[in-house]
Amino acid sequence: MKGLLSRCRALSVLAICSHQLSGSGPHRFYHCDPERGKRLVLSRMFQPQNLREDQVLSLEGTSGDLTCKSQRLMLQVGLIHPASPGCYHLLPYTVRAMEKLERVIDQEMRAIGGQKVNMPSLSPGELWRATNRWDLMGKELLRLRDRHGKEYCLGPTHEEAVTALVASQKTVSYKQLPFLLYQVTRKFRDEPRPRFGLLRGREFYMKDMYSFDSSPEAAQHTYGLVCEAYGSLFRRLGLRCIRVRADVGSIGGTASHEFQLPADIGEDRFAVCSGCGFSANTETLRWLQTDCPACRGPLTEARGIEVGHTFYLGTKYSSIFNAQFIDAQGKPCLAEMGCYGLGVTRILAAAIEVLSTEDCIRWPGLLAPYQVCLIPPKKGSKEEVAAELMDHLYDFIMEALPQLRGEVLLDDRTHRTIGNRLKDANKFGYPFVIIAGKRALEDPAHFEVWSQNTGEVVFLTREGVTEFLSQVQVV
Ligand SMILES: [Zn+2]
Repeated sequence: MKGLLSRCRALSVLAICSHQLSGSGPHRFYHCDPERGKRLVLSRMFQPQNLREDQVLSLEGTSGDLTCKSQRLMLQVGLIHPASPGCYHLLPYTVRAMEKLERVIDQEMRAIGGQKVNMPSLSPGELWRATNRWDLMGKELLRLRDRHGKEYCLGPTHEEAVTALVASQKTVSYKQLPFLLYQVTRKFRDEPRPRFGLLRGREFYMKDMYSFDSSPEAAQHTYGLVCEAYGSLFRRLGLRCIRVRADVGSIGGTASHEFQLPADIGEDRFAVCSGCGFSANTETLRWLQTDCPACRGPLTEARGIEVGHTFYLGTKYSSIFNAQFIDAQGKPCLAEMGCYGLGVTRILAAAIEVLSTEDCIRWPGLLAPYQVCLIPPKKGSKEEVAAELMDHLYDFIMEALPQLRGEVLLDDRTHRTIGNRLKDANKFGYPFVIIAGKRALEDPAHFEVWSQNTGEVVFLTREGVTEFLSQVQVV
């Protein structure tokens, strides 16, 4: 009953407001707008809490420590919740950011001819025995048996599976190549010591791409294309990423590069030459080498988080599974392969690690779970009447900028002060926060618009707000 009364009062205020605010455009009465019920309101969401540090510590329990900033912040605002050592529930904000990241990855991979597949996580043991990796991978491989006693592992990578898949296609012509097959799926690795939250888990998302070419030259060309696509991806995310020469490790092959995001907590060490731009993982250099192998200039060492890795494989896998194509002379030949990984959950956590302050999350603009947070005035305050203007602004933005549908959130916890909710919004890192404060009572109303990444604050009318927000990039 109380709710009904306040709603009636709200409607009468709204009618006056929309009267005052309507410009030359078509007049709208919002009380009969079906969109009204579709506003995203914070109070009704499965919403992260802003936890205190001691509460965050108790979340991880005795099994885990808070080992880095991104882990602490992500737990604190409820982006992730621990499930078991090295495994986390990804909560709604994180899933939204992940979906956006996957869309950016899809755009970059499709731009170079990538085709998306989805291979089972359950990978038959015999495939891994064929390459001897059933033994080589040791305890990192999570193994299991089905009811018939057949052995499987939960795939950490899919060179075996994808090569067997391509080998099963008996009539591949050289004209069809290259094939660039990729997927974004869960991968598993039995880490001895999972740590750093999503940065080193036992279950995580990876984008893995596998290329099949008709000659070593064509395969090298494809290798270069994928490296360029990775560069483009990180530039779009606003992340400074360094491509370094790397060791081929257990994947094998003849050439390999890592994509490293410089960070103090990074577990990889690499050397960079400021003279010629040479960079390499220190594992690939001679012990205590301090001069650049390319120009003899001094090398400086840095720490990084490995967010991508590329390998030129040659025929290492295609020869085992007999992945062939028919060449121009009609003869069967082995495909030249490459494989290319991106740590999807890791990119997200690493971005938060390098962009955030000690207390506030900052996202790559494209990946922010929501682009805009609206903060109406506190209930019972002098500005309370402007609450309806905020609803009105919400609908106005949706109408003017349909690309922002689903991206605008209303912090309707109006029992709290504006300052208190602004602090939360700052912590969660919405790129844009819009407040209806004192100047919302002016005629025309002015809203306070915060750009979180630059710290800039401007006062704008609703038309000014939509013009301002029209520049927001949404993926
Ligand atoms: Zn150099």
